[in-house]
Amino acid sequence: MGVGLIKCLFNSEQINRTDMEKTADVIIIGGGIIGVSIAYHLALKKAGRIILLEKGQLGEGSTSRCVGGIRTQFSTEINILFSLESIKTFERFEEEFGIHPEFKRIGYLFLATTEPEMGVFRENIELQRKFDIPVEMLNPDEIKARWSYLRVDDILGGTFCPRDGYAGPNEVLSGFASGAKRAGVRLYEGAEVIGISITRGKVRGVKTRTEEISAPMVVNAGGPFASSIGEMAGVKIPVKPIRRQIFVTAPFHLTDQTIPLTIDFHRGWYFRQETSGLLLSGPLDSEPSFNLNVDYESMAEASENAMYRVPLLERARIANGWAGLYEISPDHHAILGKVPEVEGFILANGFSGHGFQHSPAVGKVIAELMTDGRAQSIDITPLSIERFKKGELILEPMTAFKE
Ligand SMILES: Cc1cc2nc3c(=O)[nH]c(=O)nc-3n(C[C@H](O)[C@H](O)[C@H](O)COP(=O)(O)OP(=O)(O)OC[C@H]3O[C@@H](n4cnc5c(N)ncnc54)[C@H](O)[C@@H]3O)c2cc1C
Repeated sequence: MGVGLIKCLFNSEQINRTDMEKTADVIIIGGGIIGVSIAYHLALKKAGRIILLEKGQLGEGSTSRCVGGIRTQFSTEINILFSLESIKTFERFEEEFGIHPEFKRIGYLFLATTEPEMGVFRENIELQRKFDIPVEMLNPDEIKARWSYLRVDDILGGTFCPRDGYAGPNEVLSGFASGAKRAGVRLYEGAEVIGISITRGKVRGVKTRTEEISAPMVVNAGGPFASSIGEMAGVKIPVKPIRRQIFVTAPFHLTDQTIPLTIDFHRGWYFRQETSGLLLSGPLDSEPSFNLNVDYESMAEASENAMYRVPLLERARIANGWAGLYEISPDHHAILGKVPEVEGFILANGFSGHGFQHSPAVGKVIAELMTDGRAQSIDITPLSIERFKKGELILEPMTAFKE
């Protein structure tokens, strides 16, 4: 597995526009992990002629910059349901797609340093156990005994779930894309959508820079660009692009033990093994932008957090870094489903940093919604865009952790 700016394994030579169709039953805008999962699941449900349009290359957006984290330790029921449904797919991925997803169950360890954080962890664990998630509450001595390299003198406690881990965004994207293509989906790269045609409140199709394609259903899977795609249909989608930087050290041997994905909740910092080095999270911007630069100050902050929590990392050297965009919604939960004002316009947006791990379930529920009229696997009504108008935002106990 690898992360960061790695090209999709999917054979893009087979994607060309020489014989692009003029009509379809469904058009998906965006070829990231969400778009390809929806394409695959729609094809499984025989949803007719499906076209996916990607402005650049498949996966070139947030998906290729994602660190692949998969966890069940969420603080809301709806996110836990999406995790449990998605993990079923990650577990049987190779069987279904013929590609190893590199799913590594190293566990997620959350560390708390304040009483309010401990309160949140206790609430979370109570919720998670209702779903039979095998999560443990650990005291500082237990944490030190298991992961001796961690500084614990300021730690009040932590939670650990061994079933959590990470997988390869590149591999999973390729699995969905190849599966969709085998099932007849047409995937086009270099096909930027610049307009959505609507008459009398109904979707009629899309315009790219070179083509017009008619279709009664259009899916917005534009990741951090969700809001500009929404504008094409006259719909305000409250999704903002927020930069997260990531750094990787040169090869560094920290321990022979398995290193879980470890989150210093207070500092909003995390790290995990990445091949022979360590992957360190950099800061999350406070203001929205499409900036993808990596800066020295952020590298210094990532190093400082690393040396504080893992003093041995003083000897490590940062060798690589990249930045990507989260697609943040106002309550840090996805925006899924129909738009009441525009018939045929379907949203799969606002994953707020969890879109990779929830992509299998998102594809499944959106396909159910579009073909059966209702998402059966998970009730997605709480994730409707209407919640913002109605003031029914999904509340979390404290600012949620984001990979
Ligand atoms: C640094 C970082 C780490 C992350 N780590 C994790 C993690 O550990 N676990 C996790 O679950 N998630 C993680 N995420 C979040 C995850 O990457 C995203 O939630 C997920 O990739 C969203 O997928 P997407 O398909 O919606 O968006 P994208 O992958 O961005 O795909 C959207 C696509 O739409 C295309 N597009 C946009 N506009 C148009 C248009 N007009 N016409 C045609 N195409 C268009 C874009 O080119 C892009 O390829 C991380 C994100 C970042 C930045």
